[in-house]
Amino acid sequence: MKKAYLNFSLFLSALLLFVSCTDNNVENKDVQGVSKATSSLDPEIEQKITTLMSTMTLEAKVGQMCQVTLDVMMKRDSLDKIIEPNVLDPERVKKVLVDHQVGSILNVGYHTFDRNKWYEIIEEIQTSATQNTQFKIPVIYGIDAIHGVTYTEGGTLFPQEIGLAATWNKECARNLGTVTAYETRASGISWNFSPVLDLGRQPLWSRFFETLGEDVYLSKTLGSEIIVGYQGDNTANKDKVVSCMKHFVGYSNPLSGRDRTPAWIPDRMMEEFYLPAFQKGVEAGALTVMVNSGEVNGIPGHANYHLLTEVLKERWGFIGFAVSDWEDMIMLNTIAEIDSSYKDAIKTAINAGVDMSMVPYSPFYEKFCSNLIELVKEEKVSMARIDDAVRRILRVKFMSGLFEKTHFAKEDYPLFGDASFVEMSYQAAAESITLLKNKNKVLPLAKDAKVLVVGPSANSLNCLNGAWTHTWQGVDTAYNTKNKHTILSAIKAKIGSKNVTYLEGVRLEEKGSWEVNRPINLDQIQKVAKANDVIVICLGELPATERPGDIKTLNLPAEQQELVRLAHKSNKPVILVLVEGHPKIVNAIEPLAGAILQAYLPGNEGGRAVADVLFGDINPSGKLPYTYPRYDGVIEHYDHKYSEDASGKTKNFDAYNSQWDFGFGLSYTSFEYSNITLSDSVMTVKDQITVSITVKNTGAVAGKEVVQLYLRDKIATISPARKKLKAFDKIYLKPGESKVVSFTVTVTDLKFVGIENKWISEVGEFVAMVSDKSAKFELVERK
Ligand code: BGC
Repeated sequence: MKKAYLNFSLFLSALLLFVSCTDNNVENKDVQGVSKATSSLDPEIEQKITTLMSTMTLEAKVGQMCQVTLDVMMKRDSLDKIIEPNVLDPERVKKVLVDHQVGSILNVGYHTFDRNKWYEIIEEIQTSATQNTQFKIPVIYGIDAIHGVTYTEGGTLFPQEIGLAATWNKECARNLGTVTAYETRASGISWNFSPVLDLGRQPLWSRFFETLGEDVYLSKTLGSEIIVGYQGDNTANKDKVVSCMKHFVGYSNPLSGRDRTPAWIPDRMMEEFYLPAFQKGVEAGALTVMVNSGEVNGIPGHANYHLLTEVLKERWGFIGFAVSDWEDMIMLNTIAEIDSSYKDAIKTAINAGVDMSMVPYSPFYEKFCSNLIELVKEEKVSMARIDDAVRRILRVKFMSGLFEKTHFAKEDYPLFGDASFVEMSYQAAAESITLLKNKNKVLPLAKDAKVLVVGPSANSLNCLNGAWTHTWQGVDTAYNTKNKHTILSAIKAKIGSKNVTYLEGVRLEEKGSWEVNRPINLDQIQKVAKANDVIVICLGELPATERPGDIKTLNLPAEQQELVRLAHKSNKPVILVLVEGHPKIVNAIEPLAGAILQAYLPGNEGGRAVADVLFGDINPSGKLPYTYPRYDGVIEHYDHKYSEDASGKTKNFDAYNSQWDFGFGLSYTSFEYSNITLSDSVMTVKDQITVSITVKNTGAVAGKEVVQLYLRDKIATISPARKKLKAFDKIYLKPGESKVVSFTVTVTDLKFVGIENKWISEVGEFVAMVSDKSAKFELVERK
């Protein structure tokens, strides 16, 4: 094993260089439209850190680098079970915060708390940290508020990121960030472990739904909007939180599809696909990053000096800190087996560039502290590395205003759970829903139709929200937000209960960590269908994430497919609503359905949004943020090569053949694209050209359309993709209305990662494609 710490002195000199020279010389810079939130050093804060650190002991510094979970401080019964309702145990609090001077706490116990409880907990923790300790350093509290403030009762829950991505709407992404920041801070918490910037290119992965889909441009664009929504331009503001980009980097593409198993990502692909969203996040000011729990090319994320130190900190000039993921320093020893002891693992991770360890339990946190102190004394971890990590952590604490105010008054948040926030969540859900099929315009449904609603996700708020909702796996119904509609109740509210019949058909149950699909009155479906005009079948899956969410196949369970077959036999139109975090294979049942809606995991307002789309109160405008696979065993992406394209030379060989393409989504109206024009047909690396296109609403209803610009590099030294998304715009058009949409193309858009693994451009012909229109231009040395 390469000993990363040998490189550390080199890193320090590079860091000093960076501090005095702000240009980090990053290729592929394109942060137009996104404010640089908080990415430069404030001399006043740096001075305060220097003063504070000059007094701190090694023990206090190491404490800052340690993070434990809230459970560690909770009162327990005689069987060591956390008592309900949860309360802090003063003895345990003292041990963590005073004796070990731990700098960060995370998570919730098993379930959501109300705001009063959060305030009680945060107040006790911060009081202990700032009054009873020698250095009086506030705690930075972190939480997974990944689609809204998931662990505070009454908060606003948005679609999960995969649904958010389907909106292709930057405003929706910004709103998620803004509302979540407000409500998280309104719970006394100032650090959010979000967004997930892992690229969703492996749909089997249990956390696919946490991603912004498969495309680099879409992910980095919406991801940075979320970050700016969280942080604004000052993370000390009372309605902002520190963002945590995760999981740096390559976590989302395990070869086996199983969570936290090895990924193999060639350097070129890492550079071109997996790094850009994080790089743009750094440029947007994200102040923390969480490290990949898995391994890439045999190197665990937590041992990767190159990625953590050379790329993130040195090349990109990241000024914040890197926190480990759950137990990952332990796992370098016990799971990755690259270190022979916990102590060695700590040395590896800290020297690789991890600044804080999410330990998170006892006795491992105590051992983290004592081991790291020993490692410094043994000169296996340098004091300079400790100082760098602590400076980064304190910087974030200062920048988020914790030294002035650990938390604001509860009354400062009159808008918590406000109707305007709910509306933003509803808008995101409504704009995410993607119409995949609409044969003979079976949708929208008439409001006087008699509707049979069936299926496992029809009457479940948990299915709409997915995991990380009130509890880790999101399955427990006890903590659901009150008075929110399921799809069934929303349909009833819209067209009246008397017009709606409900038959469950299939029930999802947990067996161990596996989902079991149990038929419930399946045989009655044809009989019941007779008295109805249409059958709405809500398919889906139990919420799940991480290891418990591992699945073995993308195939839709046989019971759910059978439900569709039986419904089809009734000769009534069948409408499928897919409530899913993974694209489940539907090729066998797709022909049986008149219409198909992809709802993703649309959150608390998803029931309403689905009903509104079904009955035409919302014209769907979502577009797939991933390639919907046709077969379980063939995972394809839209930015594939010519060799994979069925329409190319290999046409007799069934190559690229998705169920639905990335970027696809129908509307209740029709849009016509015409008159694609380029401002010039040649450009040099210094020029830019404008691509313009006219889009007209040729149908009878108003609608939103996502205008997508793709570029194809005709010939390149690295075999080029058939197309790559470079820009998009979501526009609203009334019937008969047309708009000209323009996009600017610069050389950055023409670059790819070349043979030397550096971003380069090559002269030659390019094709700009918008919908079914295209135009060619050439990149030349000089005109
Ligand atoms: C997950 C992270 C999460 C952390 C804290 C880990 O297991 O991988 O995404 O932020 O737990 O809950």
